[in-house]
Amino acid sequence: MKALIFDIQRGSYVDGPGIRTTVFFKGCNLRCKWCHNPESRSTSAQILFYKDKCISCGKCAQVCPHGLKKCTLCGKCETFCPTSARKLCGVLYTPDEIVSEILKDKPYYGNSGGVTFSGGECMLNVGFLEECLRLCKSSGVNIAVDTAGNVKWASFERVLPLTDLFLYDVKCVSPDLHVLGTGADNRLILDNLAKLSRSGAKIIVRVPLIPGFNDDEREFVKIADLLSGLNIVKVEVLPYHSMGEHKWAAAGLSPTRYRVPSASEIEKFRGFFAK
Ligand code: SF4
Ligand code: SF4
Repeated sequence: MKALIFDIQRGSYVDGPGIRTTVFFKGCNLRCKWCHNPESRSTSAQILFYKDKCISCGKCAQVCPHGLKKCTLCGKCETFCPTSARKLCGVLYTPDEIVSEILKDKPYYGNSGGVTFSGGECMLNVGFLEECLRLCKSSGVNIAVDTAGNVKWASFERVLPLTDLFLYDVKCVSPDLHVLGTGADNRLILDNLAKLSRSGAKIIVRVPLIPGFNDDEREFVKIADLLSGLNIVKVEVLPYHSMGEHKWAAAGLSPTRYRVPSASEIEKFRGFFAK
């Protein structure tokens, strides 16, 4: 059993409590226009090309065994590129291989850290994920699963007994707005969140703040109302940032540009969830 992983980030402070190792899965079934990991969308491996880093040295074309346009994802051009302008995105791992990477960081986790499985949507590959969770659990590693929730409830049932914390994205409540921003309906997502809450799972909800998409007080009132009836540990408002923009072009995609919210806007929208 193997899965395509596009990054393993060590020493993360932003993907759950404490110091964490974050494992990013390829493949997502949402198309959020503000995505800061657009290279995660495709379920296939790909070569990312960062044009601004390229110095036109021609090394990649020289070393490529097939010609750049007939890429077989061998990764040779990445190895020989002197400026890291070419990057192989998506490497196949077995659960054992992933967990041995995670365990290298175990000494740094302390009492509060651990591993976070993210993406893309890690829950799309639930059989593989379940095996990784089992191995982490037996090694005493704290486990967080970062999900947008747009998967069958049966998938949650498989990972629930093995997961210490869910990081669950809620982008908005209004269904039409959700379709507009992500290309998908949110009924399944909100239904899964309600079931997860009833199951007694530990949940941190993460709400992106995207000016021009959901920076509407009425929308935040709806989100706050919805969450007030659920068993949620904490709500985090994650303001839009433009740091992922260069990755859109590198992945051959066109970004939708949003405004970065001001500090006062962030404070105002965080206030909807202040206890
Ligand atoms: S990954 Fe391999 S086949 Fe693809 S462009 Fe680079 S060198 Fe050529
Ligand atoms: S090897 Fe790197 S820097 Fe040189 S031409 Fe290719 S992409 Fe550009």
